[in-house]
Amino acid sequence: SVFHGKGMPWFGMDIGGTLTKCAYFETKSANPDLHHQETELIKIVKKYFKENPRKGVAGQADIRLQMDNVSIGGRTGSVHFIRFPTSLMDDFFAIAKKHQLGKFISALGATGGGAYKFEERFATELNIKFAKFDEMDTLLNGMRLVVKMNRPKEVYYWYNPHPDEQNCNPPQEKDHLSRKEYDLNDPYPFVLVNIGSGVSILAVYGPHNYKRISGSSLGGGTFLGLCCLLTGCTTFEEAIALAAKGDHRKVDKLVRDIYGGDYKKFGLPGDLVASSFGNMNLPDHRLNISKFDLARATLVTITNNIGNIALMWAVNLKISRVVFVGNFLRVNPISAKLLGHAMSFWSRGTLEALFLEHEVRCLLLHLLKHYII
Ligand code: ADP
Repeated sequence: SVFHGKGMPWFGMDIGGTLTKCAYFETKSANPDLHHQETELIKIVKKYFKENPRKGVAGQADIRLQMDNVSIGGRTGSVHFIRFPTSLMDDFFAIAKKHQLGKFISALGATGGGAYKFEERFATELNIKFAKFDEMDTLLNGMRLVVKMNRPKEVYYWYNPHPDEQNCNPPQEKDHLSRKEYDLNDPYPFVLVNIGSGVSILAVYGPHNYKRISGSSLGGGTFLGLCCLLTGCTTFEEAIALAAKGDHRKVDKLVRDIYGGDYKKFGLPGDLVASSFGNMNLPDHRLNISKFDLARATLVTITNNIGNIALMWAVNLKISRVVFVGNFLRVNPISAKLLGHAMSFWSRGTLEALFLEHEVRCLLLHLLKHYII
């Protein structure tokens, strides 16, 4: 193994199309040499996020995700999570070089497309080797591990505290939904929908038995890209904040715009979107919308499309549980609730939409586990 002979690194990186996700394990060690090395590394990592001139846009510690009292390989400590935009990889290199990161890490657990794209640069510029893991394997292993370690809080679903209203309301504006823990003790089979820059859909039958069955290029990257074009916003957080204040019904053509009410024969409520952005060809409607409405419509369009594909696959494969992960769902309860409600609405309550507290970053835990044990 490339990790052989070193206590370090207890560090993993998932270099995605939009975000680079890092996780590291901070622990007290019985071995003073090892401990020294580790503290030095952690100092550098923390410095990177302090020094970065674009802090706030660049490196961000996800304190919310931190896991304490975790026991890995007989040692107890905390797992920290950090992310930065992959487009700022040059900043990372500059600081890693300045602090001679290669002295403390000789190898790094790496996954995502960037594990291939940046492998040579890490080797030549930083003297750090990659131990590469396939991102789908890692996602599933990481998910298994995080569900086990963070039980029972890790998995949750959205439920309707007012079930009477459930079937007369269209699957939108779901602010009244509440979160509930879900014990994913016996998870198989399930459909896994990973919403990153794009979307990947897996059918998972057992711990090592899965297939990538489908995907979509209309994913989190599409939402962010379109939202920047339509509203002039520049970050995901801004895009979500705009969407939270908007009304997509001013932008979309609804069933009631066409039928004057519900389309009763097929049980389609009047408030249902018949055509996403379908009112935007009309100058009157265009005058009547704000950037908030446009952001919301973009979010709802992308989310519904993903929900639709997920539903078709779950029905097609006769699998009743669908687990949604990926950073598109980060700080984005609008989409999570919409997915939760839409899956249950369109399947008449036969499908369960589940979500993870740690979104996709949990996959890094697998990397950590791999080189610690
Ligand atoms: P990837 O591995 O393709 O980078 P992720 O699971 O990290 O995929 O998800 C990336 C998506 O997450 C983006 O397209 C965007 O929709 C959303 N996102 C969430 N937080 C951020 C952020 N801080 N910066 C950019 N995109 C973000």
